[in-house]
Amino acid sequence: MSLLKIHHYPDPVLKQKAAPVTTFDVGLRQLAGDMLETMYAAPGVGLAAPQVGISRRLIVLDCSAKDGERQPLVAVNPEIVAREGECCEEEGCLSVPEYYARVPRSEAVRVRFQDLDGVSREIEANGLWAICFQHEIDHLDGILFVDRLSPLKRGMFRKKYQKIIEQRQEQL
Ligand code: ZN
Repeated sequence: MSLLKIHHYPDPVLKQKAAPVTTFDVGLRQLAGDMLETMYAAPGVGLAAPQVGISRRLIVLDCSAKDGERQPLVAVNPEIVAREGECCEEEGCLSVPEYYARVPRSEAVRVRFQDLDGVSREIEANGLWAICFQHEIDHLDGILFVDRLSPLKRGMFRKKYQKIIEQRQEQL
């Protein structure tokens, strides 16, 4: 297992539509394991393969309570097949450091995906899990949470993020 480098906005890999996973081999298992380790180390509750520079439809999540048992979930080729309700919670992203904003999402989702053996599965998610699934699946389509903000808020984000980048460069 090893930690992977997380790519930050505006890295072009984050804007690409990721390709489906077609080979369920040891390499895929290794990548999913490394992504989970990278996510836990960050720490974060979700990570999509494009965030580590790999444009494939693979996400990992764990939205379990911080002091509870870990519940790692790996979803290959995930798609949302049903949605219900609305919510608007504050989100952040490991690829957009130090920026948080409320994003409109569905409150509950049904997600179809394959596991690491290629077996098709479905899960119903709500609360933080539902938000996380929507956020991570967006990554596979080249969409960041800041793309879902109003044009006004997106403009504010760009200005603020520019300052965050400059400050980080000064620290290096
Ligand atoms: Zn993200």
